[in-house]
Amino acid sequence: MMEDNIYYMKFTVTPTKENQEYNNMKEATAFLWIKIIDKESALNIAFLHFKKYDFLIKESLVEPSIVNKEDFITKAKGLEMFEVAEKEGIAIYYVAVAKHKDVPSDEIRLNSSVDFNLSEHILEGKKFSNEGRCLHYKADDRCDEIIKAHSIQNKGLLSKIARKGKVYSVSDSIGDMIKNNDSIILKEIGINKFSIFKGFCKKHDNELFEPIDNNLVVTTDIKQIFLYSYRILCKEIFIQEVALKQWENVEAYKNLFRDSTEQKEVYNRMNYHKKIYDDVLKNKYYEDIRYISFNSNEALSIVFSSVFSPDYDFNANYLDNENQDLLSFSSAPTKDGWSFIFSWHKSSDKSCLKFIESLIKRGERDDNLGDLLFRFLMKSCENTAFSPIFWESLELSEQNEISKVITNILHPSIAIPRDYLQKDLSGISKWNFKTKNHNL
Ligand SMILES: [Zn+2]
Repeated sequence: MMEDNIYYMKFTVTPTKENQEYNNMKEATAFLWIKIIDKESALNIAFLHFKKYDFLIKESLVEPSIVNKEDFITKAKGLEMFEVAEKEGIAIYYVAVAKHKDVPSDEIRLNSSVDFNLSEHILEGKKFSNEGRCLHYKADDRCDEIIKAHSIQNKGLLSKIARKGKVYSVSDSIGDMIKNNDSIILKEIGINKFSIFKGFCKKHDNELFEPIDNNLVVTTDIKQIFLYSYRILCKEIFIQEVALKQWENVEAYKNLFRDSTEQKEVYNRMNYHKKIYDDVLKNKYYEDIRYISFNSNEALSIVFSSVFSPDYDFNANYLDNENQDLLSFSSAPTKDGWSFIFSWHKSSDKSCLKFIESLIKRGERDDNLGDLLFRFLMKSCENTAFSPIFWESLELSEQNEISKVITNILHPSIAIPRDYLQKDLSGISKWNFKTKNHNL
C-alpha cells in the first residue's frame, strides 16, 4: 500500500447562512494538516470538514502539498499541528476575522483541532442495514425468512475467481479505510461475506434468480440479462433505504449534511425505476429491455454488478440526464469465458443510448475497449471482487493506482470531473473482448 503523507493546505473560508455559532465572523483563514494517501483525498476530507461545520471555501491559498516536520521547525504552532496530524490524522487551525471591528477576536475563536471520527458515524448507521425486508414485487406476510441475499451469485460467479473461498474486495472495507486515515484497503474476504444484503426472503430469492444462479449466461437470453439488472437494482434500493433511515435518524449524519432532501430524491428515483422493472417482471415484458454484451473468451478476473445514471459519455460530453436514466452493468459467466453486460429499460433510452454509442465509437476508433471498460468499472462501481491471482499479479504501482481511484470514488463530496472516462488505469486489466451481442 502507498505510504501516507502529511498534506498541508490553506483556505479562506466564510461561515454559511446556517452557521449560528460563528455568525460574528466575516471570514477565517483555515490551516489544515491531513495525513492521507494522496492530494485528492486530502481535498475531499477538507471539503467534508468545511461542510460539516458550515463553512464555504472562498479561496484556496495553498494547494495540498506534502510537508515534513522540518518545514515547521521554526514555527511553533505549525510544528504542534504537524504532530497532532501525525498522531490523530488531522489537525486544523483557524485565524478568524470579525465582521465588526468592535468584536474582540477572542469571541470568535474556533477550536484548533477537531474530532473527525467518520468511522464511528458509519458504525452508528450500520444497525439499519441489519433490518431486512423482501423486495420481490409479490412480497407479503409470507416472506418471513429474510436471508442474506447475494447481489452477485456465489456459486457460478464468485467461486470462479476465488482462491480458497476468498476474493479481494473493497466494498466491505470502508470502516478499515476510515481507520486507515481514509485511504482504501483492498482486503481478502470470504465470498460468503461479499456483497450481501437483506433484501429478499428465501423463497423469492430462490425462485426468482434460479435461471442465473444455476446456469451460465447466454448473452442473447434477455430474461437472464434482466435478472442480473433486477437483482442489483434491488440491492441499490436496499442501500438507499438504509441510507435514508440513517440520515433521518442518526445524529451524526444530520450534523454532517443538515437535511436529507437530496437522499430522499435519490431514493424516490430508484423506486421509480424499481416499479418499471417490477412491471417487466410481472408482465414478462422482457423485450422492453435493451442490452449489449462484450464477450471475452479469457478467464474472468473481476466480478461486479452495479447500476448508475450516466452524466458524461466516453468523450466527456455532458448527457443532460435530467430524468436520471438508469443503466446497469454486470459481469456474467458464459460458455466461452465471460461477458461485460450493460442493460437498461427502454424508458432510459435517451442517456443510455448516447453513453453506449460513445463507448462503441471510442472502442472502434483509437482505444483499447478493455481499457475503456476497466477504467469505467473502477470509477463507477464499489461492488467489485478481484481474483486474488489477478490482484497479486499486478505491479505495486498498478495496485496503488487502482486504490487511489477507488479512494476517490468512495468519497461522497467530490463531483465527477467530466473527463473521468478519458484517462488513468491504462494497460492494467489486459481485458480483451472479441465479440459483442446486442438488441439495439
Ligand atoms: Zn419474499
